[in-house]
Amino acid sequence: MDMLPAYERDPYLKELKTEIVEMGVEGKRPFAVLADTVLYPEGGGQPADRGWLGGVEVTDVQRCEATIRHFLARPVEAGPVTVRLDWVRRFDHMQQHTGQHLLTAVAADRFGWPTTAFHLGERICDVELGVAALAAADLEAIEGAVAEKIRAALTVSTRRVTQAEFATLAVRTRGLPAGHQGDVRLVGIAGTDLNTCGGTHVRSTAEIEVIKLLGAEPMRGGTRLTFVAGGRVRARLGRHEARNARLRAALGAPDEEIAAVAETKLEQLQAAEKRARGLEEELAAALVAALAVDPHRVVSAHFEGKDAAFLQALGRRLVERAPAKAALLTASDGGRSFFALAVGEEVRLDVQAAGREVAALLAGRGGGAGRVFQGKAGNLAEREGAVARLRDLAAIGGVGGKQEE
Ligand SMILES: [Zn+2]
Repeated sequence: MDMLPAYERDPYLKELKTEIVEMGVEGKRPFAVLADTVLYPEGGGQPADRGWLGGVEVTDVQRCEATIRHFLARPVEAGPVTVRLDWVRRFDHMQQHTGQHLLTAVAADRFGWPTTAFHLGERICDVELGVAALAAADLEAIEGAVAEKIRAALTVSTRRVTQAEFATLAVRTRGLPAGHQGDVRLVGIAGTDLNTCGGTHVRSTAEIEVIKLLGAEPMRGGTRLTFVAGGRVRARLGRHEARNARLRAALGAPDEEIAAVAETKLEQLQAAEKRARGLEEELAAALVAALAVDPHRVVSAHFEGKDAAFLQALGRRLVERAPAKAALLTASDGGRSFFALAVGEEVRLDVQAAGREVAALLAGRGGGAGRVFQGKAGNLAEREGAVARLRDLAAIGGVGGKQEE
């Protein structure tokens, strides 16, 4: 491609009749090289465009030495073709990218903070500024100064100069890439900025629409400043409004009070959870006391609305409190069923073997260490049968000392 590619000649060109001059495969990805293209290859902080080659999706565009590879969803035939640009996505990139030029120029010239890095993300963008910290008032001042430049509808233009001419110009640049040959491409914002850049830009600062700074955080000795420009500001505000509407309805409070009301509700929830844990402890202690005085050696109890953790805690307490008893504890909660077999030290019962038998009778599975075996039950239809089986096993095994049944 001896001439400049179409995306550079006219960044507003959305489609182009051209020709596929080379097909190839890189890794496992098929690619095409075109005689000319409207698709921008990734570079200079701007992501690669997306689009279509005839009816085939272009999933990535990368520079490869002197050529541009259009990576495709599937291989195509060489020959004439129309290349189309995903214009909505590209225009968004043009707004963010030109917004970054403006933000960088204002931060440097008005405030003396140089830009050291730029990142154009899928949802938000950021620049890294060579300043240790930014206060809220600083952010407001930058945002206001940038808005002035947007309202002034300053022309954004690009041109190519020789390296000799480049050396004589006051260009904001971090230097040309090592080994750069040929002309240098400059992007200017009238009366505001002159920069080296190969990306795509809007033609007037007015087309940036607006830049909203989102926040600043310290990073690598500098400050990372996040922002969105143009359509992203409107889309983001739309999402904020929808979210606020849901929160207003859920919390029954106006925008200004949502955060405070949510904080209060969370505190109340934490207090309620703490109270519930205390009550559960008391309940477990009372249940264990009741089971401990049951005259049978093998006891059982079922709890609605309790989970596996509750059964396990109850089993542990019972083993401690009543070493001469074995207990089958079951619970159901939201369609799920659980069991725990707790066997006191004085009961001569192989806990693991008995646990597996119980699990099989309850169509479930489980495991455990020490004197408590717990698990999930498929159903509790055979619960009484499991208790009877445990009584048999405990009668054979017996208890050290006197027998109760
Ligand atoms: Zn640029």
